[in-house]
Amino acid sequence: MINKSINKLINYGIRNNFLEEDDIPYAVNRILKILDINSFVPVTIEEDELDLSAIIEEIENFAIENKVLLSQTLNSKDAFEAQIIDCMLPRPSELNRIFYKNYKTGPLTATKWFHDFSIKTNYIKIDRINKNLKFKYEGKYSPLDITINLSKPEKDPLDIINNKNNNNDYPMCPLCIENVGVYQTPSLAPRSNHRVINLTLNHEKDKWGMQYSPYAYFDEHLIVLRKDHSPMYVNQKTFAELVDFINKFPHYLIGSNAGLPIVGGSILNHHHFQGGRYDFPIEKAQVIHKIKRKRMMIEVLDWPLAAIRIVGNNENSILDMANAIFEYWLKYENKDLNIFAKTDVDHNTVTPIVKLDGASYNFYMIFRNNLTTPEFPLGVFHPNPKRFHIKKENIGLIEAMGMAILPGRLLQELEMIKEVLLNKKNIDDFPELDKHKEWIYVLKTQSLDDLDNLLNNEVGRIFEEVLEDCNVFKYGTKQDFINFVNKAIY
Ligand SMILES: [Zn+2]
Repeated sequence: MINKSINKLINYGIRNNFLEEDDIPYAVNRILKILDINSFVPVTIEEDELDLSAIIEEIENFAIENKVLLSQTLNSKDAFEAQIIDCMLPRPSELNRIFYKNYKTGPLTATKWFHDFSIKTNYIKIDRINKNLKFKYEGKYSPLDITINLSKPEKDPLDIINNKNNNNDYPMCPLCIENVGVYQTPSLAPRSNHRVINLTLNHEKDKWGMQYSPYAYFDEHLIVLRKDHSPMYVNQKTFAELVDFINKFPHYLIGSNAGLPIVGGSILNHHHFQGGRYDFPIEKAQVIHKIKRKRMMIEVLDWPLAAIRIVGNNENSILDMANAIFEYWLKYENKDLNIFAKTDVDHNTVTPIVKLDGASYNFYMIFRNNLTTPEFPLGVFHPNPKRFHIKKENIGLIEAMGMAILPGRLLQELEMIKEVLLNKKNIDDFPELDKHKEWIYVLKTQSLDDLDNLLNNEVGRIFEEVLEDCNVFKYGTKQDFINFVNKAIY
């Protein structure tokens, strides 16, 4: 039985072009070692036996029965699967050679190949990603994308117990290059089959890497990272790096989280960008004010956060303009509007995003500030505590572009809320609904004819308000923001 499963797996690798005939004995022997068996007989496999998840399940069941795989948590199984698949994969240098051979045909050919490879090897968990819930919210701005993420496994308490003796110094963080091929405890993402493409950005040869996200939030969700473990920074160097990435991969969008706590991403200690092949809601925002300068257009966007778009064909002019506006913002203060550039530390920064539109660069700049006060200890320009029941976490790059990433638990809570609204259950039957109580009382006053639609709309509306909470000009008017942009450009 296990002999046939290994045959299926090897056939899967060959037919999907990531394993070569010459490497079959080598790959088989590595798999045998992991499974603690010592013989293999080639058998014929039919096309309809090549369902990877079914094959992996067979192998995992064998490993569990034979006490090779001791923990049965989802994370342990994922780590085991990655280790088995890795036995068939090219080494990182070989993968890079294939990628750059494809790049000679064109960047799109190269990324398509790498993206397909990442799916076929189940590094990108496409089955789970397809379970995510997605809908559009039509509110005050261009329609927002609301997603409830069901693909990323929550940390299993069993894994945390099993992990208590783990030394977390190596790799230093989940973005470090040392994650390539690392096999660690199941509380970390499975990395045995992790591969990174070498990149040269802004004249730093091979100092960068590119990978896809295993739990993609949108199409071809990718991460660009520095190979050395060094902190995030957002400054003119960042802008040049982003533009250079777009020159090399013109079919992608790329952006950076702000490099400060509260308004940035979850990993501030390792410089990285995120991108992908997707049209974000901010790109469809209406323009409320335009200024023409040096063959460029600076557009103020009708967007819940304070955002502009610089449009033009010349890379250097775009970067000069972005730098000028950024430098002006770094020092900008307006006490009437609660904007303080500096207390004991700096507070102003931006979320920059670059995409090509034909021959034009679209350079987006979203203005951010991470001031905290006794009234708002988590941030003045942060989701308001009354909306924490839907979103409490930082509003990072992806959300600032108009895509909500809401936790999987929300889906179960919405089901409970439905039961309460339909009087099937009492609100006190569900302790999870405590945080939603005020919201549920308001919902009860509304028409429940189309309950799914009502709840989707309400979640969208609250997300829109969460974004508005993060608008650095929220204590002023749109004209205050326009006045700022007029002064910031040169
Ligand atoms: Zn790192």
